[in-house]
Amino acid sequence: MQDNEKHRSRMVRKKGVVDAAIARADQDKGLLLVLTGNGKGKSSSAFGMVVRTLGYGKKAGVAQFVKSRRDSGEESFLSVQEGVKWHVLGDGYTWETQNRDSDIATAERGWKVAQDMLRDSSLHLVVLDELTYLLKYGYLDMQRVCSDLAARPPMQHVVVTGRAAPERLVEMADTVSEIRDIKHAFRAGVRAQPGIDL
Ligand code: ATP
Ligand code: MG
Repeated sequence: MQDNEKHRSRMVRKKGVVDAAIARADQDKGLLLVLTGNGKGKSSSAFGMVVRTLGYGKKAGVAQFVKSRRDSGEESFLSVQEGVKWHVLGDGYTWETQNRDSDIATAERGWKVAQDMLRDSSLHLVVLDELTYLLKYGYLDMQRVCSDLAARPPMQHVVVTGRAAPERLVEMADTVSEIRDIKHAFRAGVRAQPGIDL
């Protein structure tokens, strides 16, 4: 009984703190989110936000910068939904293409598509999947990417995914999560599983 009373008064205090924090957050704004780190869950989280967006009857654009094969569950499901613009802009992984010049040309072409989405105020959300690699390898100019992001419609949300997010992007972002790798089944010899890994 005493335990229950103690618990109740702790929860009352906690509710006060949570309610006050919620009341303080009274602004609306188009957010820049960065999902980085070596753990699994960056792209799948970004695509989860596409689903949330569609749930409100709003539109989303997705640019996949690295992958070239059209083979993920999200792509086959989401790209055919009304309200989604899905662009596969990559040429495969850098260790597959092994050609810096052609990677740069692919990145340039891809960024033009991203720029169009960043100027389209009908898009509530834009996902720039695996963009960090293009910045890391210097395929795209950081300054240019930052200014295009800054010039987007004020209420448009953007999610950037990929390992090793550059500091400039982290500074500019409103929300940044680093997903830590603790274990991954791949290292125990399990191949990519449909619905989980792709
Ligand atoms: P997901 O698309 O599953 O959210 P992610 O975007 O965080 O993953 P990426 O680096 O883009 O991770 O890698 C995509 C693929 O590589 C997925 O099949 C994922 O399961 C796998 N993967 C992600 N992190 C790791 C890891 N630490 N070790 C091995 N494989 C990984
Ligand atoms: Mg990913």
